[in-house]
Amino acid sequence: MTPDEFRRYGKQVIDWIADYQEKIESYPVLSQARPGDVLANLPAHPPEQGEGFEGVLADMDRVVMPGITHWQHPDFFAYFPSGASGPSILGDLLSAGLGVQGMLWATSPACTELETRVLDWFAELLGLPERFRSDGPGGGVIQDSASGAALAAVVAALHRADGGAAGRDGIARRHTLYVSSQTHSSLEKAARIAGIGAVNVRVVDVDPATLAMDPAHLDALLAEDAAAGALPVMVCATIGTTSTTAVDAVPAIGEVCRRHGVWLHVDAAYAGVAAVCPELRGINDGVAEYADSYVTNPHKWLLTNFDCTTMWVADREPLVGALSILPEYLRNQASASGEVIDYRDWQISLGRRFRALKLWSVIRWYGAEGLREHVRTGVRLAAGLASRIAADPAFALLEEPKLSLVCFRPRWDGLDGAEADAATLRLMERLNASGDLYLTHTKAGGRVLLRVAIGAAGTTGAHVDAAWRRIREETAALAAERT
Ligand code: PLP
Repeated sequence: MTPDEFRRYGKQVIDWIADYQEKIESYPVLSQARPGDVLANLPAHPPEQGEGFEGVLADMDRVVMPGITHWQHPDFFAYFPSGASGPSILGDLLSAGLGVQGMLWATSPACTELETRVLDWFAELLGLPERFRSDGPGGGVIQDSASGAALAAVVAALHRADGGAAGRDGIARRHTLYVSSQTHSSLEKAARIAGIGAVNVRVVDVDPATLAMDPAHLDALLAEDAAAGALPVMVCATIGTTSTTAVDAVPAIGEVCRRHGVWLHVDAAYAGVAAVCPELRGINDGVAEYADSYVTNPHKWLLTNFDCTTMWVADREPLVGALSILPEYLRNQASASGEVIDYRDWQISLGRRFRALKLWSVIRWYGAEGLREHVRTGVRLAAGLASRIAADPAFALLEEPKLSLVCFRPRWDGLDGAEADAATLRLMERLNASGDLYLTHTKAGGRVLLRVAIGAAGTTGAHVDAAWRRIREETAALAAERT
């Protein structure tokens, strides 16, 4: 493709994306495709001759779009949002346009230094501690996902716990990792990959009312394991759990970690970005004093398209110690000088995209004010929905939302627990199949709950009103069918 052809098709692609944004509400939120539908529309073999780009764009409409679930649809309330915005798409396009691979400082100094500055900016925007800044012993890095960041944190913690022995000789004795029943599954995955083993992932009790980790039980488990000869490696506290946005007590957990000399990883994948608003920074209490590593995902609630996980460490030494290997072909003067950061040493893979461009674009386009406005809108809409649910006797609200996730269930008078749960799931399937909105479920307190996670860039009060109307209508229709 020549630059002129690129210019021509590139304009068409931008127009295609802008048209998509304009008409996104005309699509059913959840793809109506059945398994195999998309495959059936794709040729079994690749083309022998190249073809024009028009064909790709035509097939986007014909083949791809029917199989798309519209994550940017304002009626998307499932999982957690995975935001995108004009500036993040354009920033990512610039990254693709440059096509650089930023594994080393030397392979594109701007890729490294822009990332360093953007992570310092972002730490400042979130009110994170000075010790996470790049001009001290710590620093920030963009990872592909909170899961990848968790694995990086686990190997760093392992390195610190046993002085690098596990990385060098393999794991010779029992190592343990501490989570709660509400911790994201990526922590167990990280323990499996790192060789700690799922069997050594210790599940700390939670307070049944708040679903937050019980620091006293953590303390007891750590003492018990150490007495039995195990080496505790890491505790993961969560700020905003996936299921219900429970917040672990980082100050109390941090105190326990400090006493036992264990690495504290704080997973704030969804909730952490809320700290752009000073009035919400309380969620991060204890992070400044105790966290060894901290993660939040602009690619969830902060208008930045996947993938963009921001991770900070208080001390970069264990991370780099665990992950740095220097084969001859990567040796270069800049790295040898010790004056530069090579982010390949801060992550699992060698190669890395220029992801900082999209976060930089987002921060510059919206400014701190715009980012705060986006988060505040989500929080306000969630509070409004929660108050309507609380006022409706046909529904039970789990709790006042902490941020922008609302968990609730219909009461289904006359049905016992299991029947009511089945009815709630049926309700969700019907709502999602209608294409009018998309929401997902969880289980808490032994009951199936619906989750409405607000955070798409285009979601307004009118969308939340319409979703609530649809939920009530469909609940009433299902209840009427039973009688
Ligand atoms: N941690 C928490 C608390 C999450 O809610 C999620 C995803 O929802 C993750 C980790 C995993 O995020 P990622 O998809 O970036 O790996």
